[in-house]
Amino acid sequence: MPPHPSPTATPQPGPHADHSGGVEAGSRGAKKRFLHDAREYVRDTDHRAFLRRALAGYYTTRDGQKARYRDWEQARDAANLAKWNAVNRLDEMLVRFADAFEAGGGKVHWARDAAEAREIILGIVRAAGAKAIIKSKCMTTEEIHLNAALEAEGYGVVESDLGEFIQQLRGEPPFHFVFPCMHVRRGEISKLFEEHLGSAPTESPEELTMIARRYMRRLYVEADVGITGANFLVAETGQISITENEGNARLTAALPRVHVALAGIEKCVERLDDLAVLLPMLATAGTGQPLTCYNTLYGGPRVSGECDGPQEMHIVLLDNGRTAILADPEQRDSLQCIRCGACLNVCPIFKNVGGFTYGTTYQGPIGSVITPHLRGLGDWNHLSQASSLCGACTDACPVRIDIHHHLLHNRRNAVRAAPNRLERMGHRMFAAVAARPRLFATGGTLFRRSLWFLKKLRLPLLRDWIASRDLPQAPARSFRDQWRHRAPPAVARSRPATTGSDR
Ligand code: SF4
Repeated sequence: MPPHPSPTATPQPGPHADHSGGVEAGSRGAKKRFLHDAREYVRDTDHRAFLRRALAGYYTTRDGQKARYRDWEQARDAANLAKWNAVNRLDEMLVRFADAFEAGGGKVHWARDAAEAREIILGIVRAAGAKAIIKSKCMTTEEIHLNAALEAEGYGVVESDLGEFIQQLRGEPPFHFVFPCMHVRRGEISKLFEEHLGSAPTESPEELTMIARRYMRRLYVEADVGITGANFLVAETGQISITENEGNARLTAALPRVHVALAGIEKCVERLDDLAVLLPMLATAGTGQPLTCYNTLYGGPRVSGECDGPQEMHIVLLDNGRTAILADPEQRDSLQCIRCGACLNVCPIFKNVGGFTYGTTYQGPIGSVITPHLRGLGDWNHLSQASSLCGACTDACPVRIDIHHHLLHNRRNAVRAAPNRLERMGHRMFAAVAARPRLFATGGTLFRRSLWFLKKLRLPLLRDWIASRDLPQAPARSFRDQWRHRAPPAVARSRPATTGSDR
C-alpha cells in the first residue's frame, strides 16, 4: 500500500455531485442531467447569491488592472496574434518544442487520446517504482480522469493546490477551472479540515491555509512523482511555463524524483517573448492580478551542479480531439484559449447554474464551445443552448476568441447533424405564412386574440418557458393596423429665405 493514500472524499449530496462518472463515462444522458441540475441550482437562491458575492470583487480588480495598460485593446491584439501564429503553425511549433525539450534532457510523449495519456503516465509511475504522488492543479489531468486511473492501480494521489485539495476532500471535481472551490464557504472548509485533518475549527483564511500547508509539507518530500500541467510550451527554447499563486507547483516539480507534465498540444507559443504579453493578460483577465505570484520556466531535469530539480522530466502532449478543432477553420481559434476563466466570470448562465451543472471538465462558455469537439457533438450539443448570446464572454476574452459565435456554429452543426423534423416543419410553415402578407396579418390578429387562451392552455412547448415568466399583454391594435391609421406626417413649414442683413 502507498504510504499516502489519496485523502478520503466526503460525498456531496444534491445537484452539486460529481458528474465525471469516472474514466470516460458521463456522456450519455448529459442533456437530461444538465436540465435537471440547472433547475435545481437555479432554485438554490442562497447559493446563487453566494456565487454572485464571490464574483462581485472580480470586476473591480480586473478593471483596475486593465486601466494600468496603456491600451488594453492593443494588448488583446498582441495576445491574439501570439496564439494565432502558434495555432496556425502547430505542426511546426510542436516539433520545434519537442526537439528543444529533448535536447535539454527531458522526454516527450505523444498521446492521441485520454486512454493513451493515462497509459503513458501510469507507465512512467510504474517505472519509477512510485508509492506516493503529488499533483498540482492541472485541468488536463481532470480531462483524462487521471486520479481515478492512478487510484485504481493503488497509488495515492494528493492535490497540492489548496482549492483542488478541498475539492478532493469533498469528492467533487473543480467547480470553476480557475477557482476550483469558489462555491464553498469558509465554515464548510473548516468542518472538512476538522473531519479529515483533525484541526481546530476556524474561519480565518490564513489559519485554514496553514492547516493545509502543514499537512502538505511532508508529502512533497516523500512523493516519488510530481505531476503538473503547463500553461505554455515555448517552441523556441523547449521550456514549459507554469503560472500559479501558491508555490505548490514549484514544490511539486522540484522535490520528487520524477516530474511529469501533461499539456494539451494547443499550449504552444513560438517565442519566449510571447510570454511577456500572455502572462500578464492571463493574470489580469482571470483574477485581476498584474501578474500571477509565481511564474516558472522548466527546461528539463536537474543537471550536474544544480541543487534541486527532478532526476527525470517527462512531458505528455495530448491531442484528444484538438486536431479536429484545428481542422475546422471556423472554430480553430478556440485553441487559442489560455484558460484564464474570464468568460466564466462574466457569463450570466454560469452565475445562475454554477459550474457542476455543465458536467464537463471545462465549464462556462469556452467549455460549451470545445466540449462537443472533445466528447462528441451528439451528446453535448445542448451546451451551446446554455447561452443568452449576450457576447459578454467574447468581450472579456483576452485572446479575442469569438466565443458566442462559436456557440451559434455549434447550434447550426447540431441541427445539421440531427435535424429536428418538427422544428423544420415549423420553420417551413412560418416561411409560407410570412411570404403571404394577408395570411400573415390574419395570423397575427388570431394570435393576438388568442394569447390569453394560450397562457391558460399551458402547452407543453410553452410550459417551461412561461413557468418563470409572464407573457406580455397583447396590444389592442397590431403594428400594421397602427401604421395604416397613422396620422399624416406633418409637412415642414417652409422658412422664409434669409439674407445676411436679417441678422
Ligand atoms: S475563452 Fe478566452 S476568456 Fe475564456 S478561458 Fe479561454 S482565454 Fe479566457
